[in-house]
Amino acid sequence: MSQQNPIFIPGPTNIPEVLRKAVDMPTLDHRSSQFAGILQPALAGVKKVLKTETGSVFLFPSTGTGGWEMAITNTLSPGDKVLVARNGMFSHRWIDMCQRHGLNVTVIETPWGAGLPADRYEEALSADTGHQIKAVLATHNETATGVVSDIKAIRAAMDRAGHPALFLVDGVSSIGSMDFRMEEWGVDIAVTGSQKGFMLPAGLAILGVSPKARAAVETATLPRTFFDLRDMEKGYSANGFPYTPPVGLMNGLKTACDMLLDEGLENVFARHRRIADGVRAATSAWGLELCAKRPEWQSDTVSAIRTPEGFNATHIVTHAAEVYGMAFGVGLGVVAGKVFRIGHLGQLTDAMALSGIATAEMVMADLGLEIELGSGVAAAQAVYRHGNTTQKREAA
Ligand SMILES: *Cc1c(COP(=O)(O)O)cnc(C)c1O
Repeated sequence: MSQQNPIFIPGPTNIPEVLRKAVDMPTLDHRSSQFAGILQPALAGVKKVLKTETGSVFLFPSTGTGGWEMAITNTLSPGDKVLVARNGMFSHRWIDMCQRHGLNVTVIETPWGAGLPADRYEEALSADTGHQIKAVLATHNETATGVVSDIKAIRAAMDRAGHPALFLVDGVSSIGSMDFRMEEWGVDIAVTGSQKGFMLPAGLAILGVSPKARAAVETATLPRTFFDLRDMEKGYSANGFPYTPPVGLMNGLKTACDMLLDEGLENVFARHRRIADGVRAATSAWGLELCAKRPEWQSDTVSAIRTPEGFNATHIVTHAAEVYGMAFGVGLGVVAGKVFRIGHLGQLTDAMALSGIATAEMVMADLGLEIELGSGVAAAQAVYRHGNTTQKREAA
């Protein structure tokens, strides 16, 4: 596979040169004062990206999955009730983890391709008058189906039900790419990883923890050692770490936050929206449909595209890799073979997106799908081009 082509899997994402350099650094003594110069700005940067004032940021050598484990083991006890909706492979895996930890999981089954149903969360919470449910779990962006959900609406549902449960949110494929407001949305723990919106190699679980979630740590009894927030907190307060930190990645994270904040989070989100709009326009031009059933559920970081009945969508991914050296994402779980995914998060430009759209077109035509070469590219160009300058001048 070409090392030069951009990749179009929804994480890990393309790593900008500046971040590759930031990650590549000589060993330093993490017990020296040099480490503070990396740790503190990284924590402060993530705090801004998460949009939290009162929350604290924690970084564990792990991935998003480890972030889930940190979130539940630090705040819950065996047998605790949790409420969670399943609408794809990632919400499914988080549910599986809760069950394996001996939590009592109530699952709101939701069609794959639909957003999380705030009304059904509200129903379940309102019925729980004894407040047995200790945590509400939600996956902001279901990466398997390309579905983004309304986290603010779920918080509103919790508030309407007057329910005190903790609100734990998987923002692994949304944070740093799509609007996310930890404080405003009343998120108690926000989970992400280094290899998606932060554009770094995998290796860091990145978490925001509210004061309410922090308080729950004192009474939660699920076993935890490596992921114990209190050890990490003690480390940070002395500008240290409870074990050997991945210093290069943390230096990368500091730089990634600078990049996102320099571009401006609103601009980053607008860029993701524009690039996604181009991919969506191409999809329509191909006569195909997204797995996300309604426009408001269509993710700006990944598009899961349904292929015609009887066609194995995985062939697109294999053929693209083998023949064109380009990586797209396969369908997972229930939609395996039914969709292929174009990941469009992280460091991506319009021109990079066009190369992915053009390649997807060639692949589909090669495989006998009725795709008119150039149709998707033209549709995306119409979204990306900056307009007819002659007309703009006349209008001015
Ligand atoms: C990628 C992803 C995960 C898993 O993260 P890892 O870093 O692979 O452990 C969890 N949730 C969502 C929504 C994801 O996109």
